[in-house]
Amino acid sequence: MAVWNLGSVNIDHVYQVPHLPAPGETLAALSYSTGLGGKGANQSVAAARAGAVVHHIGAVGPDADRVLARLRAFGVGTDAIRITDTPTGHAIITVDAQAENAIILFPGANLLPDRDQVEGALADARVGDFLLLQNETSAQAEAARIGRERGLRVVYSAAPFDVDAVREVLPFTNLLVMNEGEAAQLQAALGQVPPVERIVTRGAKGAEWHSPSGEVLSVPAFRVRPVDTTGAGDCFIGNLVAALDAGLSRPEAMRRASAAAAIQVTRAGAGEAMPDAADVTAFLQD
Ligand code: ATP
Repeated sequence: MAVWNLGSVNIDHVYQVPHLPAPGETLAALSYSTGLGGKGANQSVAAARAGAVVHHIGAVGPDADRVLARLRAFGVGTDAIRITDTPTGHAIITVDAQAENAIILFPGANLLPDRDQVEGALADARVGDFLLLQNETSAQAEAARIGRERGLRVVYSAAPFDVDAVREVLPFTNLLVMNEGEAAQLQAALGQVPPVERIVTRGAKGAEWHSPSGEVLSVPAFRVRPVDTTGAGDCFIGNLVAALDAGLSRPEAMRRASAAAAIQVTRAGAGEAMPDAADVTAFLQD
C-alpha cells in the first residue's frame, strides 16, 4: 500500500537574534540556518522514515533543489511535486535568547496545486491507500473528494485550524486529527463533536482515538525530557498512518505513533528530527 500526501513544502530560514526586531529596527542576526519545513513535508518525512511508501503531492518554485533533494534523501517520492515559477513556500523564523520566536510565513507555490494536479497524481493510487491532507495547501476539498471516490482512506490534519476548511473537507474524511486546542475550537464552531473517527492529541498527556459509536482508545504519552516539541503532531500522524498502512491494529498504531513522537520531542528540529522505524522499535523494547 502507499501514502499519498497533498502537503506544503517550505524552506525554513532560521535566524538567532539578540531580541525580536522592533518596528523600524535593522537587526544583525547571530546565526543562520536553513532547512526543509512545512507541515506537509514533515508528515511525509515522518511516514517515510517509519517505513511507508510515500508520494508527496505539492508545488515548489525554481529555488527548491535542496529541499527536494532532502525529501528524497528521507525516502519521500517527489514525482508528484510540480516545479513552478512561483517561489517555494518559506518561513522566516527569528528566535531570541529566551527561545521566543516571531515567524513570517509565505505560502508561495503551496497554494498552486489544483484539482487536475491531484487527479493526475492519484491516477496511480489504489483502493485502501492513504491520502493525507493538512491546511497549508490549496485543493484540499477537491483532493478529499477524489480520494474518497477512489476508495482511499482520507486523513485530515486540521492545522493550521480554520473552521471553513474543516467544514469543506469533513464530508470526505475518514479520520480527522487535531490537537486539543483545535478540537475545542471545532466543537465550539459546530456546536457538537463531528460524527467521524477522530484523534485528539494532548501533548505530554497523550492521545485519544474517538469513534462515532462513543468508543475511546487512549494512549498515554511516554515520559521523556523534551528538548523541542515542534513537529510532534506531524510525527505522530506520519507514524500512525505508516503503521495502519502496514496493517497494524489501532492500539498498536497509536502506541508506535506515541513512541515516535516521544523520541522526536527529545531532538531539536521538526522534519529533521523524525525517528526511523528501528529507533521506534528499540524505544519500545527498552
Ligand atoms: P506541534 O504543533 O508542536 O507539532 P501538536 O500540538 O500538533 O504539536 P501535540 O498534541 O503537542 O501535537 O503532540 C502530539 C503527540 O506527541 C502527543 O499526543 C504525544 O504522543 C507526543 N508528545 C508531545 N509532547 C510530548 C512530550 N512532552 N512528551 C512525550 N510525548 C509528547
